[in-house]
Amino acid sequence: MPAKLFQDIEEEVTSFLSGLIRINTTNPPGNETAAAKYVAETLEQEGFKCELFESETGRGSVVTRLKGARRKPSLLLLSHLDVVAADAREWSVEPFSGLVKDGFVWGRGALDMKGMTAVEVMALKLLKRNNVELKGDVVLAATADEEKGGDAGAGWLVQNHSDKVCADYVLNEGAGMAMKIDEKDTFTINTAEKGILWFKVKAGGTPGHGSVPGAADNAILRMNKVVEKLSSFCPKIRLVPTVKQFLSQLTGSRMFRDLSVLLRNPAQSDQVLDWVAQEDKFLAEELRAMLRMTVTPTIIRGGVKENIIPSECEAVFDCRVLPGQSPAKALREIKQLLKDAGLDKLSFEIIQANDPSESSLNSSLYKLIVRVLKEFDPKCGAVPVLLTGGTDSRFFRRLGSVCYGFHPVRPETSYSEMARTIHGIDERISTENLVFGTSVLYNIVERFMT
Ligand SMILES: [Zn+2]
Repeated sequence: MPAKLFQDIEEEVTSFLSGLIRINTTNPPGNETAAAKYVAETLEQEGFKCELFESETGRGSVVTRLKGARRKPSLLLLSHLDVVAADAREWSVEPFSGLVKDGFVWGRGALDMKGMTAVEVMALKLLKRNNVELKGDVVLAATADEEKGGDAGAGWLVQNHSDKVCADYVLNEGAGMAMKIDEKDTFTINTAEKGILWFKVKAGGTPGHGSVPGAADNAILRMNKVVEKLSSFCPKIRLVPTVKQFLSQLTGSRMFRDLSVLLRNPAQSDQVLDWVAQEDKFLAEELRAMLRMTVTPTIIRGGVKENIIPSECEAVFDCRVLPGQSPAKALREIKQLLKDAGLDKLSFEIIQANDPSESSLNSSLYKLIVRVLKEFDPKCGAVPVLLTGGTDSRFFRRLGSVCYGFHPVRPETSYSEMARTIHGIDERISTENLVFGTSVLYNIVERFMT
């Protein structure tokens, strides 16, 4: 049976998304409760029972469940309701108007990720309307706080109400947008994400008069060494399963054939990527970050007065580790590297540490996603991707759930042009893609759960 396209829901899903964008959930402060109530109202009109959970006043998440016969694993449709800030002066439309114009719904969150909330809510409503007999539970959770780390949203729910949200499989954000490769739409499926280690280094010294530098021990100069050492640090290249698969599929195309060196001889990756960077800097650097751990300075503070040599300087580093590595081990490696910078005068503080995570590329759900996409477009491709950033999926992978980031979106403009609107300006999604996204998701869920 070929996959069904639900053209008749275009207006319903469009107006739902437009209304959701109009509820300003810029985080901070978030104020997601209003959006959670809006989602609940729509679902309750259809006969769903929804539960609203607040980690603190105003920080609401909504959860509902379509019960199945418990003969199959459960599936969670996850999304977050908060968005990042938008400066109306930079946009060509009011970012919280939810304006529907030229076949698009415009506004902050259209792609990241209220558009996927809309698609998930619509697919769930259709499952109920069509009286689909589910063999396992389908849960929907639209949560607070993802853009600030999820500790007041998905992380809090997993910790305090795991019975309500935990599921064997999870579909979330993180990928889904198609790239044009050799004229074919190639959809991305997020199967892994890097872990985070944010840490602060404090360098100490001895103060003195700025006119006699030799008599003091300048903490800025010590920090200089630290920054120098860490930014020239070139950790070993490691191809995790997702990246290996991603590269081997990519290099099968005409467009990326030359990247096959990366697979044959990973040690030469930097040379190849330097060469790619001359054509496409962004792509080259994204690929480079998928191959190894990275460490980069993001904040530096030191000194109090023009003529005082400072005895203290501090810097913050953003380190990202690959699946298979751990933040604790990375920190040990970093300390080892800084031995010559005077470890006795350096102190370390972990600001945040999240483990990396990866889900199998061989699950029945992954294979079904690819199969359903091919039914919509037999020529299309699908590749697994590693995110260099993080999503709420990590809270669920930690518990053993198989999680994929997959919000299917056909290219409207170029991939990089669309990707730039996320957290950028003029974020929008076509109503055609809302219909496509709902249809793909519905077909996946219906088949996976029956
Ligand atoms: Zn997001």
